[in-house]
Amino acid sequence: MIGIVAAMPEEIAHIEKSAKITEKRSFAGREFHLGTLCDREVVIVLARIGKVAAATTTTTLINHFPVSEIVLTGVAGGVHQDVKIGDIVVGNSFIQHDMDASASMRFERFEIPLLGRKELPAAANLVERATVASRALVNQQYPSANVHVGLMGAGDQFIASKEKIKELRTVIPSLLCVEMEGAAAAQVCFEYNVPFVSIRSISDNADDEAGTDFLEFVNDHAAPVSRAVVEALLSQ
Ligand code: SAH
Repeated sequence: MIGIVAAMPEEIAHIEKSAKITEKRSFAGREFHLGTLCDREVVIVLARIGKVAAATTTTTLINHFPVSEIVLTGVAGGVHQDVKIGDIVVGNSFIQHDMDASASMRFERFEIPLLGRKELPAAANLVERATVASRALVNQQYPSANVHVGLMGAGDQFIASKEKIKELRTVIPSLLCVEMEGAAAAQVCFEYNVPFVSIRSISDNADDEAGTDFLEFVNDHAAPVSRAVVEALLSQ
């Protein structure tokens, strides 16, 4: 059974257009939709927004359903100068950009205390499959877009500030994009040893226009892209 976690209700609705949902079960205030998509058994759930919400959703998903892998999809703000609105980013590594226990003198900035690491990995084979699926989609339908594979940052902030982006580029030079859930879900999957990947389309540049760019993009573009990539991934 594959767990599909989407960040927005619009994306869930779009993905479910081609799914056959046979059962709905509720835990922790979340509704889990069970069924099939592209002939694969799936459980689909809304992540909700922010790291705690995403971690709770992921933990509940793992504890109540026999998921063999988890795919998170949604939108993100571009950070790296090569990452443009409309591009797709496949996360192969995840960092909590707002994690900082360094003043305690015991941990480095971004290090997750007691886990002893700053970055959480995605499953290599899922990254490969997601990248192939994303490239095929872009080639067929969005030829001006690019697919990037690399580091995604999550924090409990919608980032809409050039200053903040400048700082993030300096302290985490390989950071491709920012969102609010990936590194939390990745940490839960890492600790439970469940293969994980996240695929995001870039909705904004995390700058002062991010709010308006984001809203337009979500409605017109993100939900169809999420659906297409998830379907291509499952059909492989
Ligand atoms: N759903 C609400 C608000 C979503 S908050 C609405 O429709 O207005 C933004 C969501 O998109 C988060 O789930 C986050 O993961 C992602 N995101 C997109 N751009 C972002 C940015 N610049 N900074 C942080 N998160 C961003």
